[in-house]
Amino acid sequence: MKQFDVIVIGGGHAGSEAAAAAARMGAKTALVTLRPEQIGVMSCNPAIGGLGKGHLVREIDALDGLMGRVADSAGIQFRLLNRRKGPAVQGPRAQADRKLYREAMQQALSVQNGLTIIGAEVIDLNLQSGRVAGVILKDGTSLFARAVVLTAGTFLNGVIHVGSERRSGGRVGDEPSIPLAGRLRDLLPSGGRLKTGTPPRLDGRSIDWSRLERQDGDEDPVLFSFMSRQPTARQIACGITHTNEQTHEIVRENLQRSAMYGGYIEGVGPRYCPSIEDKVVRFSEKSAHQVFLEPEGLDDDTIYPNGISTSLPRDVQEAYVRTIAGLEDVRILQPGYAIEYDFFDPRELRQSLEVRQLPGLFFAGQINGTTGYEEAAAQGLVAGLNAARLAKDEDVISFSRRDSYIGVMLDDLVTRGVTEPYRMFTSRAEFRLALRADNADQRLTPLGIAVGCVSEPRQRAFQEKMISICEARRALTTKRLSPKELLSHGLRLSQDGVRRDGFELLSLGEEARTAVESLFPAFSTYGQDIRDQVATDALYAQYLQRQEADAKLLHEEEQTIIPRDFDYDLLSGLSYELKTKLKRQQPENLARASKIEGMTPAALTLILAHLRKAQ
Ligand code: FAD
Repeated sequence: MKQFDVIVIGGGHAGSEAAAAAARMGAKTALVTLRPEQIGVMSCNPAIGGLGKGHLVREIDALDGLMGRVADSAGIQFRLLNRRKGPAVQGPRAQADRKLYREAMQQALSVQNGLTIIGAEVIDLNLQSGRVAGVILKDGTSLFARAVVLTAGTFLNGVIHVGSERRSGGRVGDEPSIPLAGRLRDLLPSGGRLKTGTPPRLDGRSIDWSRLERQDGDEDPVLFSFMSRQPTARQIACGITHTNEQTHEIVRENLQRSAMYGGYIEGVGPRYCPSIEDKVVRFSEKSAHQVFLEPEGLDDDTIYPNGISTSLPRDVQEAYVRTIAGLEDVRILQPGYAIEYDFFDPRELRQSLEVRQLPGLFFAGQINGTTGYEEAAAQGLVAGLNAARLAKDEDVISFSRRDSYIGVMLDDLVTRGVTEPYRMFTSRAEFRLALRADNADQRLTPLGIAVGCVSEPRQRAFQEKMISICEARRALTTKRLSPKELLSHGLRLSQDGVRRDGFELLSLGEEARTAVESLFPAFSTYGQDIRDQVATDALYAQYLQRQEADAKLLHEEEQTIIPRDFDYDLLSGLSYELKTKLKRQQPENLARASKIEGMTPAALTLILAHLRKAQ
């Protein structure tokens, strides 16, 4: 009999993070996955991070998770999205070398103490007294554990579609997971079917790069991990091209041959990640769409054309791709496809991601109706930590909307459920000024240290950083200066007579920074990263109170009635999707409106402001 504390099924992004987290917590852990050599495979785009998603990666890293460090070592182009906007909405993103990413993830897991990796298919769950007590493998072997984490991704009853062709598959080149899917459907209420898609892969040697706009990475790359300093892989440029009227015409003419529009797919796709068919139909007024040509690796000629995922037949893919500038003679290495799979309603889960009906079983990743590597990894981390706690009879670890995007996602999933693949956006967080990528360690590493999932080197690095931040802040409070005194140092403020210390002055932004550095020389002895962090903390400190007040107001106004004839079309700041849902569901008050899937705090504030104006 093989006994573990925790068994994780699936070595995708959720499973890798879950297994590593459980093992870091001291649980004897097994990771059972169909093909161990596929651990760390990126099923779709070779990129990590972005808006909202980059925040999740930083939070995973703050809890000593793997994704940030692995992405840093595999990153071949780093860009900080929204660089010109405030730090709260900036998103670190890296394009990764697929092979390096996979190797780095496998290496990270291979050196993890307490973790055994088993290549096998799980076909059933072991149940004892209404609890999950282990798994049964295809060869009949039983493995036992106090907690099991299931992260089967797109594999449960996976069906791949290319035009009218359909075949079973977990993703291209992988078999689906059918017996386990059947067993789960017997045990639990099904959530339904979702779908996602991927573009054709192109041969970079057949692209005319001279005709394309070039996109370089940032000169001063911002990495994911608080423990990383510099990229290690060679950095490369991407290309940018556009679809055109001819491309759209070919897609339009062949819409009925697409799996999606020809009625071959019942699953709902991600609206935020539309296929080229969706773009042509939904944004018919647009005559061009941007396509990023992203190399999949340093020693790989495969190019990922970001922006044209599709389920059209191969001949149509060849035709429309070749209408695009630079791609006139392109060779398709692998056609794009759509995939449909089973997911389970996340409202059946506790905040710890344990399945209410089956104690001892946790779900994480795509199986919960989310999409994306980062969303999957963050859930894997939570499920892995909590599975280890359950195995030791310890309380669950909670994350809240106030402390993390992880908390926002868990709350959204278990309270609102999903009707389409869920992905993270900064607009989902009501406390987003506090939940910045730059301060993820300050928010979460203390929790990680307290529960025991943070390794020694990171604990030390974090403690040293926090000591420096505290001292640097203290160095800013040695004196307070009046606007008149500041004027003589070139800083012009309103003559309100208020004396301010260095921290308060830093909240005024960049122009105060130079004056502060010369007025508080002890502050300028700290490293650039510490001074930048203190400046960012100062900048946001002033807004936090207002954000707190806004959130409190929304909470207090939850019972505010929304009249049946309320005209949502008058709210120009409200997205088309939300308007449609609100008109259809006609919530009677703000509390009900807040439960609508995809509802954001900003949208609720907008509705409230309008209701007040109308009074
Ligand atoms: P996966 O990465 O799918 O991993 C599942 C793992 O479980 C695999 O290792 C598999 O071998 C294992 N497994 C399954 N069943 C069993 C079993 N019975 N026994 C043992 N092991 C098992 N995301 C985006 O954000 N944007 C996109 O545009 C996008 N497009 C996509 C297109 C396609 C075609 C696919 C396949 C995925 C796409 N994704 C996209 C989704 C992204 O790949 C997933 O969100 C992410 O990989 C989910 O991680 P996961 O860990 O939940 O599952």
